[in-house]
Amino acid sequence: MKNKNTHYIVFCTVFVCGIVASLMPWELSPLWVFSLLALGLSFYTKKFLLNYYAILESINKRIEIDELTGLFSRYQIQQELNQLIVTSHAQDKKLAALVLDLDHFKTINDAFGHKIGDKLLVNVAQRLMSVCPKQAVVGYLGGDAFLVLLALDHDQDKPYLVTLSKNVIDHVSQSYLVDELTLNIGCSIGVAVYPEFGLDAATLMKNADMAVYRAKSAGRATYYFYDGEMGRQFARNVRIETRLRQALRNESLEVHFQPKVDLLTERCVGMEALLRWNDDELGCVSPAEFIPIAEQTGIILPLGEWVFEQTFRHILEWQEQGIIVPPIAINCSAAQLKRSDFLTKLVALLEKYQIDPSLLEVEVTESILIEDATICAELLNEMSQIGIRLAIDDFGTGYSSLSYLKDLPFHYVKIDQVFIRDIVHDKSHAALTNAIISLSHSLHLKVIAEGITSLEQLALLREYGCDIGQGYLFSKALGADSLASDPMIVALNQQAL
Ligand code: C2E
Ligand code: MG
Ligand code: MG
Repeated sequence: MKNKNTHYIVFCTVFVCGIVASLMPWELSPLWVFSLLALGLSFYTKKFLLNYYAILESINKRIEIDELTGLFSRYQIQQELNQLIVTSHAQDKKLAALVLDLDHFKTINDAFGHKIGDKLLVNVAQRLMSVCPKQAVVGYLGGDAFLVLLALDHDQDKPYLVTLSKNVIDHVSQSYLVDELTLNIGCSIGVAVYPEFGLDAATLMKNADMAVYRAKSAGRATYYFYDGEMGRQFARNVRIETRLRQALRNESLEVHFQPKVDLLTERCVGMEALLRWNDDELGCVSPAEFIPIAEQTGIILPLGEWVFEQTFRHILEWQEQGIIVPPIAINCSAAQLKRSDFLTKLVALLEKYQIDPSLLEVEVTESILIEDATICAELLNEMSQIGIRLAIDDFGTGYSSLSYLKDLPFHYVKIDQVFIRDIVHDKSHAALTNAIISLSHSLHLKVIAEGITSLEQLALLREYGCDIGQGYLFSKALGADSLASDPMIVALNQQAL
């Protein structure tokens, strides 16, 4: 308000002075009037400029310093990085960029609100400052991410950065007292070092980001250093993601079916639907590689629906050709089961293709049970009630909590192929397999062994009383067209006659 009125006061003063001067008895030359006006104007201009510079300074400060955390802002820390690159280049020194990202910060915001979240960020910023070396430049990138820049002396190499990263994680991950609440938060760090892994600010930041992303996917609360391999892997993953979206649109994926065999009678008792993708540019890509990418990017949702629909379409076609089809197992990722409309859509699809639910088995891994046990238990019970059979896949590789087997309505346990692979030569794998089989039987569950490739493995599994087997010894996954002529399916159909 004061600033706004200054020019009125100045002009009024000059105007009044002019009037007074013209009313004076002495003769006033125009030079006097102009001098007075000039004086007034220069006074006003000075005031105006002072205000202008003060405002400019405060705006600049706001651009340079983040108001919330008091650290360098995103804009300024990038300027600092540019500057440090220039000096590091001139002094032939290395420079480290550490991106720190808080783990599950969203949970704090969701649970306690943004005000508490903001206060926590301030605390984290202070703790980060206190644990970083004096020469470090620290900035806030926004959200839950911070950037630490460190010009390295010649004797400060990777081990120094490893110790620093561990130290930062340790300190930042301690509890915080915010508004009488004790909050716990972890963090992950990604490091990229100039000049090996980025010659300019943008590349260095991108690579540190990639490393932190890697740290997050490796389970969080850890650090990763960017290296060339990570860059190549990332580029391939991005390529796979793009091509996979396209493959889904063009329907250039296929579902193949691998028979499951009763180990006593050696008859086909089921099949597992497995995705196959032969891309024009990437060649054959294994589901072991593209399914995790589909899961991370959300493609798994339309892809999973497509697998169900495609499998049901094949079942219908085989039935129309008069072929007897054994139950078919479909793999389901956690993200699919977490959708509230999962079962409604599945039931609608079963009805659309007139498929009996008893012809469907769903394979889930343990990860879903750990993430959301209660919701998952409800869903599995509903699925079981409508006649869908359930299998716990890759058993033995995850947490393998026995309570899942006791409390949830599973029908099958699939022992992961890593155990079967070494079962003949590795006594501990043999003992574990034997124990899983006995335990599952005592809980009235059937056991399927994955990845049987030799007669020796088969003999041992029979000895342990394993019920069902799957593996290259019996058959690889077959395309839908070749299935009808497969000896195992032919035998299944002859037996029914
Ligand atoms: P999985 O569900 O455990 O499937 C068994 C894997 O073992 C399949 O690999 C199968 O081809 C392979 N296999 C079977 N017998 C043998 C054998 O004797 N030796 C060896 N070395 N391997 C054998 P695949 O097809 O590469 O699939 C890998 C994983 O990708 C699957 O593991 C499953 O977790 C996932 N996957 C495949 N299709 C789908 C899908 O439609 N949806 C979802 N969500 N996941 C899928
Ligand atoms: Mg499976
Ligand atoms: Mg498996």
